Amino acid sequence: MISPALEQLMKEHEDTMIIPGENVANVMKEHPLEHALLLLSQAGYSTIPVLDREDHFVGLLSLNDIVKKMLGIKGIDTANLEILTVADVMKTEVAVMRPDAELEDVLHLLVDSAFLPVLDAEGKFCGIVTRREILKAVNYTFHVFDRKNSETKVVVHANSNTVN
Ligand code: AMP
Repeated sequence: MISPALEQLMKEHEDTMIIPGENVANVMKEHPLEHALLLLSQAGYSTIPVLDREDHFVGLLSLNDIVKKMLGIKGIDTANLEILTVADVMKTEVAVMRPDAELEDVLHLLVDSAFLPVLDAEGKFCGIVTRREILKAVNYTFHVFDRKNSETKVVVHANSNTVN
């Protein structure tokens, strides 16, 4: 269990921990792979969330998955890019979280994923929590915790001086 004092400090970063959906590059599951490949290269990310028309999260699409589909026996075959859609190659077994997830669970899941899609109770996409943002919050927490600890020691020391 994470100590309540540390959890409280981490929560001071809560606002920046979730990247809101409107700032996250995504692709529709109906899109042809060719379009998705363009989107991925423009966004500059190797993996992005896949949504349906009602904004439900349905999977993740990675550059790697697209390239694998293009690799035929004779080398790269781009014909598949026009025939297949995002739904044909996306990963659907994906770790996700709710906006109110326990910090401890989030930390465990981020060991194996660079980011976690955040979904509401209806499965609608709210944004992502990235390992990078969590590490920034952890870094902040460690520094502030250390400072608060040494301040407390100074106060205790000062008080004990007064008593003596
Ligand atoms: P970072 O920790 O910022 O390197 O992000 C880790 C991963 O999260 C990236 O490789 C992307 O797959 C995903 N990601 C981060 N920010 C965004 C964004 N604004 N839009 C789409 N995907 C993102």
